[in-house]
Amino acid sequence: MTRIAIYPGTFDPITLGHVDVIQRGLKLFDRVVIGVAENPNKGPTFPLEARLAMARDTFADEPRVQAVAFSGLLVDLARDQGAHAILRGLRAASDFEYEFQMATMNRRLDENVETVFVMAREDYTFVSSRFIREIASMGGDVSGLVPEAALPHVNSLLKGISG
Ligand code: ADP
Repeated sequence: MTRIAIYPGTFDPITLGHVDVIQRGLKLFDRVVIGVAENPNKGPTFPLEARLAMARDTFADEPRVQAVAFSGLLVDLARDQGAHAILRGLRAASDFEYEFQMATMNRRLDENVETVFVMAREDYTFVSSRFIREIASMGGDVSGLVPEAALPHVNSLLKGISG
């Protein structure tokens, strides 16, 4: 049986923290499917296509990682992809409340899908998509915080032409 995990998120943009979580996931699962949430409620800065492209380009050389867009229930995406696990990352205690609620809700929706948490490397505990957006939009250097493949997209934020 192929062990598949879904790693859902907004990835607005994908960061090296996300990449680290995925690499840890690859030690536990045969395949990791990055689920890029449409998430119109969060009003993402980057269009869905750009968020998807950044994730795909980052793992272009890793056949065990795919990226797909989704808008419905996470447990439905898991079922569609043949995944039995949801992969999430924890940074600090502040992540816990929301993650706990989401994992509990998803378990209610589908008892067969298990949420698995990993912690990224300590160097990345402060890395968040939000700070990257803020730094990039003010002209700061975000190389070393986002994967190389995502840099052109993030830097285009400076010019106000994200995507
Ligand atoms: P969401 O909108 O679902 O929170 P994100 O793209 O912000 O989506 O994050 C996706 C997942 O990755 C979440 O579980 C989040 O806690 C985790 N994550 C994000 N950044 C880091 C990081 N630097 N270290 C560990 N986990 C992280």
